[in-house]
This record gives sequence, C-alpha cells and structure tokens, in this order.
Amino acid sequence: MIWLRAFLPTAIALIVAAALAYFVSDTMAARWLAIALVIQALLVTLVMARLYFWAALPRQRALPQIGGVWQPLLDRLARFVKTDRETRESLTAELEQLHRAVDRLPDGLVVLDRYNHVQWCNDAAHEMHGIVGTGRPLHHFIRQPEFINYLDGDDYSRPPVLPLPTRPGRLFELRLHRSDEHHKLLISRDLTEQARLDAMRRDFVANVSHEIRTPVTVIGGFAETLLDLELEPAAQREYLSTILKQSRTMQRLVEDLLTLATLESSSAPPESERINVHSMIRAVGAEAQALSQGRHTIGYRLDAPPLVLGSPIELESAIRNLAINAVRYTPDQGRIEIGWRIVDNEGRLSVRDSGIGIAPEHLPRLTERFYRVDRGRSRDSGGTGLGLAIVKHIAQHHGGQLRIESTLGHGSVFTLVLPVARLIAESSGEAAHDRLTAPAAGA
Ligand code: ADP
Repeated sequence: MIWLRAFLPTAIALIVAAALAYFVSDTMAARWLAIALVIQALLVTLVMARLYFWAALPRQRALPQIGGVWQPLLDRLARFVKTDRETRESLTAELEQLHRAVDRLPDGLVVLDRYNHVQWCNDAAHEMHGIVGTGRPLHHFIRQPEFINYLDGDDYSRPPVLPLPTRPGRLFELRLHRSDEHHKLLISRDLTEQARLDAMRRDFVANVSHEIRTPVTVIGGFAETLLDLELEPAAQREYLSTILKQSRTMQRLVEDLLTLATLESSSAPPESERINVHSMIRAVGAEAQALSQGRHTIGYRLDAPPLVLGSPIELESAIRNLAINAVRYTPDQGRIEIGWRIVDNEGRLSVRDSGIGIAPEHLPRLTERFYRVDRGRSRDSGGTGLGLAIVKHIAQHHGGQLRIESTLGHGSVFTLVLPVARLIAESSGEAAHDRLTAPAAGA
C-alpha cells in the first residue's frame, strides 16, 4: 500500500497531463507536467532537508511533522526512535543500579587499562587509595614497593597484604585479576579480622601443644624410669602418683577445651531451666571445702531469692571454676565467701577471697585462653589456664558478664552478673523482668 500511496501524486499529475493533452493541447500538458515536477522536486528537497537536520541529532531533536505521503515512513521512524529511547533508558537504569551496588561494596574495585591507568573505581577504592579522576597511573595512588613489584610482575596469584596510609592499624589484600586482554581489575579487601583470627588460631594451637607437651613429657619420663630401674615400692608409688597427677591435668585440659568449644559453637541462649542458686552454691561450696581440706574458712552470703533461669550445668561449672580458683589462689587460713544477691536489677553471683590478689595490669587479659599471672603457680595447683575463659563464655551465654575486682596481696572478687530476664520473683515463680525494681533485702 505504501508504494501506491507514494506514487499517487505522480499518478494524479500524469492523469491531469493526459486530460490536458486530450482536451486542450499538448503544450498545456507539457507545461502542466513541468510545473508539477518542479513542485514535487521542491517538496522532496524540503522534506529531505528537514529529515537531514533531524538525523544530525536524532536523540535531541523531535522528529519533523511532515504528513502526507511521508507519514507511513515517519511513523516507522517514530517507532524506532521510541524503542531506541526505551532501550537506552533501561540500560542506563541498570548501569546506575550496578554502579550503586558496586559503590556499596566494602571491597575497593579499580578497573585498569593495559598501561595500568585507572579507568574507573568504586567509592571504597576512592576512599582507600585516594583515587581521583581517571586516566592517571595507579602507582600515583598506591606507592608501596611491594605492590608496585606485584603490579609490574606477571604472577598475580600471590597478592601482597599491606597496611594503607588511609586506614592505620588495618591490613588489606591487594589482588589483581586480568579481566580481558586489555583490562585488569584490582580488588582491595580488608583482611584485618581474618589476620587476627588466623593469629589467634595459630596461638591457640601453639598453646594447646605446649600445654600437652609438659604432662606428656613428664608421664613418658617417669614411665621409662619405672621400667628401667628397680625402685623401692615407696619411690615407685611416688613416681606413679606423679604420673597420675599429670594425666589428670591432661584430662582436665581436654575437658576444658571441649567445654570451651561447645560454648563457642553455640550462639543460641542456653536451655533455660529453673535453678535453685542457693542449693547450687552450697553444693559447690562443699566441693571447695573438700579441696581446701580445712585450710580456708568458706562461707555463704545468700541475700536474694534463689530461683533463676539458665543452664544448670553451665552455671554450676562457672561457680565451681571460681570457687576452685579461690581455694587455689588463697593462702592457708584465708577466707572465701560465695554470695548471691540482686543489685540494680542484676543477679550477682560472686566469689570473694582474701587471697594473693591480682595486679591491675593483668586484669584485662585474665579471661584470655591460657593467660596466667603466675604460670608456675597455676600449673602446680593443676590449673589449665582456661577456667576464667569458660566462666566468661558462660556469663555471656546467659546474656550477662564476668566482672573482676582485685587488689594485689589483699584478695579478689569475681562476679558473674545475670540480667533481670534470668531472675525469677519468689512469690509468682515467673521471670522477674521489670517487676524487680527495688534491690532485694540484704543487697
Ligand atoms: P588457671 O587454671 O591458671 O587458674 P584461670 O583461667 O582459672 O586459669 O585463671 C587465669 C589466671 O587468673 C590464673 O592463672 C591466676 O593467675 C589468675 N586467678 C584466677 N583466679 C584467681 C584468684 N581467685 N586469685 C588470684 N588470681 C587468680
């Protein structure tokens, strides 16, 4: 149909010319055709000029309104322009979304050309390396020789881990990837936390090996002596009791390690049972009495209602660790008091002793695994160096904390603080929560 429509003006001109030749004269027909041809040529020139003007900047200029026989062609062009605009808009939106997402990444991203000039970077890379603008060489921004060697080399499989001047105290891995023949991608990732965890793991393994080596060496040495030498029964007994003591130390170490591993792997709050803290304290106190064998005075101060919600195994283990430490680190004739009270809506389970005390510089590190003030004394009394780490985890597991106060030469107070949600009011037997506003009697 478009062809018919395009040919219509020419057809009309030809019909008029034929009519003129037939009814008037050939001269009139020829004149008419000449005039029609000039008019059509003028019209086509005008349309061409307008289309040419539009085609120079088709995305900025509106399509010319021409109409007539040109309309079907212009309709098609308009449809093409519309589809093109929609495609561009959706691509731009996607690109912006991608840029926003990449800018929110914690890792720095830099796109480099084949000459290691910056082509693009995200916000994180801009902040980490101070990269501004594009087209500048990367070594203007990252100058550490370790990185420059890596950048100039061929092997990108061993990225350097470096501190950055913009982030003091932190470590970053700067890894290059070849994205294609002409481009590279630099990814800068903060590895501080991972490095810290790696160091902790290495320390832990070294500590455990060290702790195990001592008893194993002693057991091996004494067993060999027993096998090689004909000893008196009394000496044999002494050697065997040393072997037994060391094997018990190892057993305690393994048990403590397992307890710590269980506590660390479970993030959920402990199973909550109703626990009678008074009975628990008395039971642990009796164990401490047995350990002390009358060398210490052990008393109780139970000033708050007895019921709490928590894990009986964990809480008993925490009190036992604290009470046993009090016996071990308090000289003979010393006093030990295990107390339970409520202050400021917190349950406070404390073990107070009049023992050797701890110098202030040790207090912040006391709950670290294997940290000891006096290594020899801890070992001699059968310590594993894990007791307070376990107590701290148990406290945190119950939503509470472990507080330590101590004066060197005068004694210490270790307090396991339980939040109000763990306390049960005496009358109702329900969790106390906000109802426990006033400190309990004797607190
Ligand atoms: P350990 O098995 O060595 O006792 P802990 O984790 O229980 O390990 O305690 C860590 C260190 O804290 C101990 O080595 C000791 O130096 C110190 N400590 C713990 N309890 C007391 C206390 N009641 N009095 C003095 N020092 C203590």
